[in-house]
Amino acid sequence: MAFVLCVEMSNGYHRPEKPASEASFHLKCLIITGQMRKLKELMLKSDNRICADCGAQDPKWASANIGIFICLKCSDIHRSLGTDISKVLSVTLDEWSDGDIESMIEVGGNSYANSIYEAFLPKGFPKPKSNSSYEERSKFIRSKYESQEFLKPSLRIVEMREFIGDLKVKVVRGSNLAVRDMFSSDPYKAQTTVKPSDLNPIWNEELTLSVPQTYGALKLQVYDQDVFSADDIMGEAEVDLQPMITSAMAFGDPELLGNMQIGKWLKTSDNALISDSIVNIVDGKVKQEVSLQLQNVESGEIEGTRTE
Ligand SMILES: [Zn+2]
Repeated sequence: MAFVLCVEMSNGYHRPEKPASEASFHLKCLIITGQMRKLKELMLKSDNRICADCGAQDPKWASANIGIFICLKCSDIHRSLGTDISKVLSVTLDEWSDGDIESMIEVGGNSYANSIYEAFLPKGFPKPKSNSSYEERSKFIRSKYESQEFLKPSLRIVEMREFIGDLKVKVVRGSNLAVRDMFSSDPYKAQTTVKPSDLNPIWNEELTLSVPQTYGALKLQVYDQDVFSADDIMGEAEVDLQPMITSAMAFGDPELLGNMQIGKWLKTSDNALISDSIVNIVDGKVKQEVSLQLQNVESGEIEGTRTE
């Protein structure tokens, strides 16, 4: 399915020490999917409230590639297996990439992973307990994941990413921003490159992203040209994709439907909308126009200007 999102943004923060004529910005689009929230929800499922390997309560660690939640003691042993076998991350302390979170969500956690990794666990085979020794724990974990002794040979957890459609983000115009097209290798992240410009450019450019099944918000971030790092976001805004995608799914193939309104994303005090945003079917495509006010600017007044 094809979605078109037309975006206007206004007034990213501009560093006062730089003259306006030298201003130029990156715009980065990514679907962040409220992923961390999904990971925490997954952690709260009952089968994930005990360690996949020893049954200890309340595990706060995970093996992202295996897709399990584990306790601190088991995480030590997983780490010793090497990251190609087990990529250990703390749910609370580490930064997770979207890919890591997706692979956890695809597996679904301990029950499913164990149904594979312990598929051929002999009846009565002693699994370690929360108070088992390091040696006992290590022997079991190595047998389970390193030599895969209990794995049903025909079953493998394969990494797969399915997309429900393409999202074209059409950046219409804005102030204090300058963009042009560039596609990154990651299919659901796209990023513009920079061209020097005045502070109020008008552009009409498109970025295409694939929408993964576990999609969430679309994040638009504006960066200063010179310092392209996470610390130097000049402003950002999130677009909730849910109204567009769920209404599109509910109405079915837009090519078979006439032009009409199918949904609405409402302006609230805690979103970036300048006004309510309507989801329409226009010429066989699902289309939504949004006017956004950039959030989290470092300083300066934000003024929303609706230009169309
Ligand atoms: Zn454990």
